[in-house]
Amino acid sequence: TIQQSDALKRVQPSATLAVTQKARELKAQGIDVISLGAGEPDFDTPDHIKDAAIAAIRAGKTKYTPVDGIPELKAAIVDKFGRENGLTYTADQISVAPGGKPVIFNALTATLNPGDEVIIPAPYWVSYPDMVRLCGGEPVVARAGLEDGFKLRPETLAAAITPKTKWLIFNSPSNPTGAGYTRSEIQALADVLLDHPHVLVMTDDMYEHIAYDGFQFATMAEVEPRLYERTLTTNGVSKAFAMTGWRIGYAGGPKPLIDAMRKVMSQTTSNPCSISQWAAVAALNGPLDFLPERNAAFKARRDRMLADINAAPGLTAPTPEGAFYVFADCSGTIGKTTSSGHLIETDIDFCALLLQDEAVAVVPGSAFGAAPGFRVSYATDDASLIEAGARIRRFCEGLS
Ligand code: PLP
Repeated sequence: TIQQSDALKRVQPSATLAVTQKARELKAQGIDVISLGAGEPDFDTPDHIKDAAIAAIRAGKTKYTPVDGIPELKAAIVDKFGRENGLTYTADQISVAPGGKPVIFNALTATLNPGDEVIIPAPYWVSYPDMVRLCGGEPVVARAGLEDGFKLRPETLAAAITPKTKWLIFNSPSNPTGAGYTRSEIQALADVLLDHPHVLVMTDDMYEHIAYDGFQFATMAEVEPRLYERTLTTNGVSKAFAMTGWRIGYAGGPKPLIDAMRKVMSQTTSNPCSISQWAAVAALNGPLDFLPERNAAFKARRDRMLADINAAPGLTAPTPEGAFYVFADCSGTIGKTTSSGHLIETDIDFCALLLQDEAVAVVPGSAFGAAPGFRVSYATDDASLIEAGARIRRFCEGLS
């Protein structure tokens, strides 16, 4: 029989994918399920990006490339960091990988030894703790509460740091909460980090361009230049350019770290898809003029979903600054019974019963290290969202 490795046994399969799969099964049975599980923009990749990929195929850009990215893409990333983030990198400080997820995994693989600790603010993106475990490290969860809009307090960060801390992973705007940190909130965390020179910082800026109400995105190395030497700034084209399937993520950081990540890639994935790299060149060098319209659509959906959730008895959600998620605390529903006669003891029960009784699929907060709660992805069409909001309200109004 096949035995999983000890490292893999410590890993959970992705809860978001599990929910999406369950919703798909119910749909196949003819049930009118609304799936708010997946974290993927429902918009299409802009045409000028697709055209660049087609041109790359026709021009024969279909061979191996340098392991961690073609010079043209590295140049576009250097320009992007300079133009949008006030960060100066040279091409040899840039790593390109098949998605934002592999960028993070390569960095962890390149640096973690058994027992090394990685601080992960919760609610967290599902993959961080499991990637850390796969690399032999220990996730250290630092809780960020509803009362703080799910943003990490400096004193909570300070309390989580030990001599074994290797990294802080910092994600703003956040998946799963949408929480975006202001410059001064980032500075307050940076001040703590300045006292602990052995801690490296990994920022995950994947949702940089998906923000609302004039939120000004900022990233750690930009806000506190004294952290530049120990920060890996990760980003990607997946969310901003609706390119989740193309698989291109990137990072800027200290050259020795970038070299180590290249060594990992050289013996594992090799280069990211050549055609996708050319598409990413067009994305990063091209206009962002399609974003305001998309963000306006996302914002209208956010506002509607937020209003429905906050009107539902037992649910509370703060207003997210960005991304396309609302994270609701559902502690007010625990201990209640549904109109179908089932007791809700955990957020997993809440989500299972919401799916069973009202055919709405959302992901339990426990998957994000934050129970009891759940995440709604509002990156779906308006009609489905209006109906889903009504169903969530009806479900909660029926609790007793
Ligand atoms: N980081 C965060 C916070 C995400 O939500 C995601 C995707 O869901 C990623 C990284 C991974 O992006 P990619 O699809 O480019 O691997």
